[in-house]
Amino acid sequence: MDQKVTEWIDAHKQDLLEDIKALCAIPSVKAAPLEGKPYGEESYKALNLAIDMAAKYGFTTKNYDNYVGTADYDSALPRTLDILAHTDVVPAGEGWTVTEPFNIIEKDGRLYGRGTSDDKGPMLCALYAMRALKESNVPMKKGIRLIMGSDEETGSSDIEHYYAIEPEAEMTFSPDAEFPLINIEKGQFRGIISKKYEESTALPRILSLDAGVAFNAVPQKAVIKFEGLDMDAAKGAMEEIAKACEVEVNVTADQEITIIGESAHASTPENGKNAGLAAMMLASKLDLADSECLEFVKKIPELFPYGVTDGSGIGIKMCDEESHDLTCTLDLYHVDPTGMEFTFDSRVPVMGTKENCQDVAEKNITAAGFDFTTPGMVPPHRVAGDSDFVQTLLGSYEKVTGLKGECLAIGGGTYVHELKNGVAFGAILPDIDTRMHGADEFMDIDNIMIATKVFADAIWELCGDK
Ligand SMILES: [Zn+2]
Repeated sequence: MDQKVTEWIDAHKQDLLEDIKALCAIPSVKAAPLEGKPYGEESYKALNLAIDMAAKYGFTTKNYDNYVGTADYDSALPRTLDILAHTDVVPAGEGWTVTEPFNIIEKDGRLYGRGTSDDKGPMLCALYAMRALKESNVPMKKGIRLIMGSDEETGSSDIEHYYAIEPEAEMTFSPDAEFPLINIEKGQFRGIISKKYEESTALPRILSLDAGVAFNAVPQKAVIKFEGLDMDAAKGAMEEIAKACEVEVNVTADQEITIIGESAHASTPENGKNAGLAAMMLASKLDLADSECLEFVKKIPELFPYGVTDGSGIGIKMCDEESHDLTCTLDLYHVDPTGMEFTFDSRVPVMGTKENCQDVAEKNITAAGFDFTTPGMVPPHRVAGDSDFVQTLLGSYEKVTGLKGECLAIGGGTYVHELKNGVAFGAILPDIDTRMHGADEFMDIDNIMIATKVFADAIWELCGDK
């Protein structure tokens, strides 16, 4: 890439930071639809500000019904490369200490605020990469389009709307994850385990056990309510579970025990401490009256042993070289005197099939006496790691950063999951946790500059008239 492009980027650092601040100041969290504004007022404002920025910098823009905006580098060139990013953000949440979530500040070489790293910051890095090439008059022979979505965080209905109108480009990258590059997203296999039984009134008994807020998150908290339990006699088992599971176990009311573990995304359950499973183990250890309910409570830790997240308890442990281990976590729990229901979430390597995964799990779960249902398996996403496209992106990354470029496989889904030739590429450098979705989200200013240069080089390599 021409030295003048790099120089242009360095010279426009402050402009880029100001644009990121302005765009991140809009709290574009999805809200109820308004007339012509499918995700509410703030999402509409953020999307249109981004479109206006692109138009101001000389790109041909188009607004797809306020779902998606596009900016074409040069609409006369055959469209070849799409860059897919988003202007919506997750809710602010609590616990911010450095700044208010939508008051973006520069501090210690970072920009702090919601959206700085997911994904408004990276999206504007891509826009500035396009701008740098354009204003440096670098000749292009293929077209580039920045696609700006506004509903990535809650289901990607935005790009569903867009791709119903427009075809997928030959190549797509999305700066909505991390460097180097994600070419494989595991498949997903979710299952619901349930059991109905006759109510037993023998005491002591479980009145209810609840844990989990989402099928794709390891539960942080579980609450068990009892009837007729001697709370003092429960102390020993409580201490035992607290120690064995490294969780907090406390009496929170008469006949009520609360367990606090640690949440984690279902694609990385090994990072969590599953409060729901700890609660099932505690219930199994207490001196409760025999019942069908208790009998089935005790079976759950056998199918989902605490701390084991490879699916071996239900017989689906598997691993392949490209996409690595299957992960599995039981995330939603409800038990009462007449029935129980649980949901697990498993992320399946490319080698997984209905036969070696879904059918095996179903067989083992029903053999234990439970009922089983599943919405079926979501297939994995894979772009060949040795393709010219992927190798070119990795080459640009290596050239600009001096770091080793390699493909990654992840358990989560990204914006490109449904695209045939789409990969996630940047924009966060390796081993940095920018607290996306958490309090004090940030993006390092050096990272912003490096990502912009990597994108400019990649666009040039893929589309330049060399
Ligand atoms: Zn994102």
